Amino acid sequence: MFRRILIANRGEIALRVIRACRELGVESVCVYSTADKDAPYLKLADRAICIGPGPAKESYLNIPRIISAAEMADVDAIHPGYGFLSERAEFAQICRDCKIEFIGPSPEAMAKLGDKVECKKTAKANKVPIFPGSEGAIEDEDEAAKIAAEIGYPVIIKASAGGGGRGMRVCHNEATLRSNIKQASTEAQAAFGNGAVFIEKFLEHARHVEVQCLGDKHGHAIHLYERDCSMQRRHQKVIEEAPGPGIDRRKRDAVCEAAARLIKAAEYSGAATVEFLMDEKQNFYMLEVNTRVQVEHPVTELITGIDIVKTMIRVAAGEELPYKQRDITIRGHAIECRINAEDPDKGFRPSAGKIDTWHAPGGPGVRLDTHVVQGYTVPPNYDSMIGKLLVHADTRDEALTRMARALREFTVGPIKTTIPLQLRLMENSDFRKGGIDIHFLERMLK
Ligand code: ADP
Repeated sequence: MFRRILIANRGEIALRVIRACRELGVESVCVYSTADKDAPYLKLADRAICIGPGPAKESYLNIPRIISAAEMADVDAIHPGYGFLSERAEFAQICRDCKIEFIGPSPEAMAKLGDKVECKKTAKANKVPIFPGSEGAIEDEDEAAKIAAEIGYPVIIKASAGGGGRGMRVCHNEATLRSNIKQASTEAQAAFGNGAVFIEKFLEHARHVEVQCLGDKHGHAIHLYERDCSMQRRHQKVIEEAPGPGIDRRKRDAVCEAAARLIKAAEYSGAATVEFLMDEKQNFYMLEVNTRVQVEHPVTELITGIDIVKTMIRVAAGEELPYKQRDITIRGHAIECRINAEDPDKGFRPSAGKIDTWHAPGGPGVRLDTHVVQGYTVPPNYDSMIGKLLVHADTRDEALTRMARALREFTVGPIKTTIPLQLRLMENSDFRKGGIDIHFLERMLK
């Protein structure tokens, strides 16, 4: 096992990794920007090192500064969390060159699965269902029009290196496709440093279902079943739950096994999520693979009893996965609500500032993953998520009721949060029935 780990992230995920380190008996070193200098979680790490000013480019995205801190603190490994540098193969390679273990996949496995076009090729070769669409990157308008005519409209243009719901365009006819393809490529080049775009069939009434997987350096790969993340706004998840409501047992096994097969084929070690869209007949089509721990990993921890972050650290240190596929079973139902410092009544405008009132919920089956305490000031520089409220219960109905109860206990002020919206959603009869599609929330908000 490692002696000391540097955490190249901030907020709730930095705290999540500090906690895992503590339980494993590993020292943790947290880096921080000056915007986070008073963050209380820094005191829970064994050491905290300032790496620069608030803007992420000068701190959490600054590779030389992070590597300098790692050298200075003499760590054995770096945990990247999610976002920031977590999916940069270049960063994983630099860690390797500096003889620091990157807690995640090898740069090769990351490149293979992290690039959407490459990933689809590997998926196809391993009989993982993918969307009808272009085989690789699209070179010109004529080629795009030809493929779209074959698969039928609507189609979606995506950036191979895209992420965070950015760089996607839905086209309902040839004229819009032709006029969008060049622009999409130019934008992708500017935003992601890679102009490769591709097209695939656009599914109108899909659900977002993703499979949590784990692999080790000894060729083992397992899945921890699926999560349904269909409650989205601007392609960003708002609520996640596990298992996926109403999913047929055989379809579930098929998609989960396909995901684990893909991870194994890529010789992947660490945590990965294979994302799919599911149509009304419960046919699955792979979207992409996230080569890191995800925000919503705790819902899977709650239904399987497996600590995903500790397992990531163990396999990075060279241990074999401590579980076989047959050891993994689903127990009960879990739901996560992302609590964002945003004002749902004012177009989800970010609501940074000092938190004077913070009454956190508790009681049976409640888990709150947050770095926030009363008196904490939400800096304006980063993502607006201030915590993740989770519940676990025997059935989905009980979990929904428990979440509504916990949300009612949760008082935060004077900043605005998404708590009132989440409460409305818990009481929504369509959501309670289960099986809403990815456009449900946008329709409801209109
Ligand atoms: P990103 O990497 O930017 O998050 P994804 O490929 O994971 O992009 O897609 C994010 C979301 O966009 C999906 O959860 C879904 O809501 C929507 N989406 C993506 N591809 C399609 C598609 N082919 N048909 C319908 N919706 C899609």
